[in-house]
Amino acid sequence: MNVTGIEVNDLGVVECLWQHLLTTFGPQKLSTIVTLIYLFVVYIGTSLPYALIYKYKPAFLYKYKIQDEAKTEKLKKIQPTDWKCIKQLLINHFVVLIPSAIGIYPALRYVNADFGLPLPSWTDTIVRIFLYFVIEDTFFYWGHRFFHTKWGYNNVHYLHHQYQAPIAMASSYAHLAEFIVLGTGFALGPAIIGINHLFTLWVWIFVRQVEALDCHCGFDFPWHLSKFLPFYCGPHHHDHHHKTYGGNFASTFTWWDWMMGTDKKYREDCQKEAKKKVN
Ligand SMILES: [Zn+2]
Ligand SMILES: [Zn+2]
Repeated sequence: MNVTGIEVNDLGVVECLWQHLLTTFGPQKLSTIVTLIYLFVVYIGTSLPYALIYKYKPAFLYKYKIQDEAKTEKLKKIQPTDWKCIKQLLINHFVVLIPSAIGIYPALRYVNADFGLPLPSWTDTIVRIFLYFVIEDTFFYWGHRFFHTKWGYNNVHYLHHQYQAPIAMASSYAHLAEFIVLGTGFALGPAIIGINHLFTLWVWIFVRQVEALDCHCGFDFPWHLSKFLPFYCGPHHHDHHHKTYGGNFASTFTWWDWMMGTDKKYREDCQKEAKKKVN
């Protein structure tokens, strides 16, 4: 069988799966309904390992918990109930993601993006996604700082900070207005840099979701990416923001906080922590 001039035998696993999805659903359904299902699968799939860790508390992982576990247990009394958290997540996802999914197909057609094979190269995808992250992070940094003004915090952002010791699943636990405003940063990269394929959007959805859950997970694993890429925020950086209600406003990279001096307290606390370990 020949698919758009490419022999099926020459296809890798990803291409085969993609072709199967495309021939089953067609470009329009693949961009809307299947993308929406994919989004929920990614959210639940990446949350599940963390949910199991929180439930069973394996000692070999819990020793890397950033905030003291006894303190975290106490904080649970002032946190929203699990049901309140789930309800807010459902509202945010249904109100924002369903209309957004409807807009994906016409938007991709408008910019002449592709849906079929061949898929874009990994080099092209990685470069684009890195640039998407740079743009999203810049937008998030300044938007997040706005939400830390008196008005922004008291009317909107307080909800996200009900988790003083964050957990992965609560990464999207936020006021609907915040979910919409900061969520805009997700679309800015593709809008500015351009998007050439629906597949690139799927990769972007996946890595952004994994990253958001990761920086709220509450664990500082020694094998974490931030230990090898010092400009990547990671959970230790964002946990400090939840713990102190200020500083470390970025979502992904450390450079904005460093340039604007909003990580001063974090750096001081890191130094104190390091000294304690030495003594
Ligand atoms: Zn905040
Ligand atoms: Zn957060």
